[in-house]
Amino acid sequence: MARLIDGKQVSADLKMRVKEEVAALKEKGVEPALAVIIVGSDPASRVYVNNKKKACELCGIRSVEYALEESTCEEELLALIDKLNEDETINGILCQLPVPKHINDKTVIERIDPKKDVDCFSNVNVGKMWVGDYAFKPCTPAGVMELLKAYDIDVSGKNCVIIGRSNIVGKPMAALLLEKNATVTICHSKTQNLAQICSKADIIVAAVGRAKFVTADMVKDGAVVIDVGINRSEEGKLCGDVDFENVKEKASFITPVPGGCGPMTIAVLMQNTLCAAKLQNNL
Ligand code: NAD
Repeated sequence: MARLIDGKQVSADLKMRVKEEVAALKEKGVEPALAVIIVGSDPASRVYVNNKKKACELCGIRSVEYALEESTCEEELLALIDKLNEDETINGILCQLPVPKHINDKTVIERIDPKKDVDCFSNVNVGKMWVGDYAFKPCTPAGVMELLKAYDIDVSGKNCVIIGRSNIVGKPMAALLLEKNATVTICHSKTQNLAQICSKADIIVAAVGRAKFVTADMVKDGAVVIDVGINRSEEGKLCGDVDFENVKEKASFITPVPGGCGPMTIAVLMQNTLCAAKLQNNL
């Protein structure tokens, strides 16, 4: 029976460390600030933005929300980003994705000054991460690394299989594991013999977006199973990509959904905002 990895606790601990550092910065006259842009009224995006604002409040980071109409044109959004890039009282900028279809998300991401790109999505910051010369960490994958660290799970030399190759999760996850000397395999929708590849993994990171995608037969006895997925089950309950009930019988460690990887993403965002404030003030 696997040991549960408690993302709520690890996230709370990380936010507490950020809070302490924010308090120390404030004593030096620096108040970290995050600008959060949301375009339109997607309910899931609204929940994410509210959670980010709450986390800022908890950590003592000033958050400024820009809620723009669904009909906002790309030029208007880019003009706001230009203004925030110039604003010395703003350290981090994020635009909640997805943006409405008439706006190009890549253009938006690239417009944010890399020094304020606390989501770590821009080409510059992704490149820096791959060569190991980075300040900001990709939030969700770095959250996974924090979970592994908190439970003393050493990845060095381990056979790590990531399912999913998105720019937000799968690919940066590979970079961070590789940096810690894991042997990394990235699987995706065109991968052949997925179950066989997974069954050899010491650590599986699932980021597919399909409920019960990772089944017990794909998991080696004693493997560590990290579930990044956020899905709704047929009964409408929040669930991950892993068939939790059966996989937990074989794994040594497993993350639940909710309460595993989810809370970590925002905690790392707080860490990145603190880091931005320090860098911009040469501290
Ligand atoms: P995505 O849709 O961009 O990528 C999904 C990946 O799964 C793709 O690379 C695809 O190749 C792969 N895939 C699809 N079908 C497959 C198959 N049959 N076999 C193997 N691979 C297959 O999604 P994403 O943005 O990477 O997110 C993945 C999941 O993680 C989603 O459920 C999302 O909600 C969740 N997520 C969670 C957090 C968090 O904070 N915990 C953050 C981001 C995403």
